[in-house]
Amino acid sequence: MAKRPYVIDEMISAKTIAARIEGLSHEIRAQFGDTDKLVVVGLLRGSFVFIADLVRELDLPIEVDFLEASSYGDSTESSREVRILKDLRSPVEGRDVLVVEDIVDTGHTMHHVLNLLASRGPARLKSIALLDKPSRREVDCRADWIGFEIPDEFVVGYGIDYAQRDRNLPFIGKVRFTDGAG
Ligand code: 5GP
Ligand code: MG
Ligand code: MG
Repeated sequence: MAKRPYVIDEMISAKTIAARIEGLSHEIRAQFGDTDKLVVVGLLRGSFVFIADLVRELDLPIEVDFLEASSYGDSTESSREVRILKDLRSPVEGRDVLVVEDIVDTGHTMHHVLNLLASRGPARLKSIALLDKPSRREVDCRADWIGFEIPDEFVVGYGIDYAQRDRNLPFIGKVRFTDGAG
């Protein structure tokens, strides 16, 4: 994406995010309270802040692993392909798995990753996304837990980038372009 001048308007505060994660952690603990060891899988790179905060609220035996997927092709195509750039280090067969994503947008990434991990025979496979943009969905896919539903806006912060910038903002902000080009 070519860089255009922009400002960031706060959409979800750090405090609101923290409170929501605390609430979600209770639901996840209720689901996985009996687990031997939950494999928490962060999708790189956007989920790295979310997963860090989430696992510290999970009073469960966990292992953390990461997977990097990249979607490419024309984003207006409903058959976008997803490539795995970095796979998990550990096998997940017979294990409890929680996939952690930053945003479910068209749904292609989450759909592909969940199908891939399901094919490896986990005991339980669940997913959580901090943000969900249901109006953008192209494939039928919904995370088991969602932090916040948001409208079709381009957001940054809390791990999420614009051209690799703004991942370190403590809140979720909406990008507003200031060059008047819409
Ligand atoms: P999907 O396969 O669901 O279309 O793609 C999800 C991915 O697209 C997210 O994990 C994220 O990397 C990217 N994405 C979707 N919406 C936004 C957004 O508003 N801002 C940024 N920075 N990335 C987004
Ligand atoms: Mg992502
Ligand atoms: Mg990105």
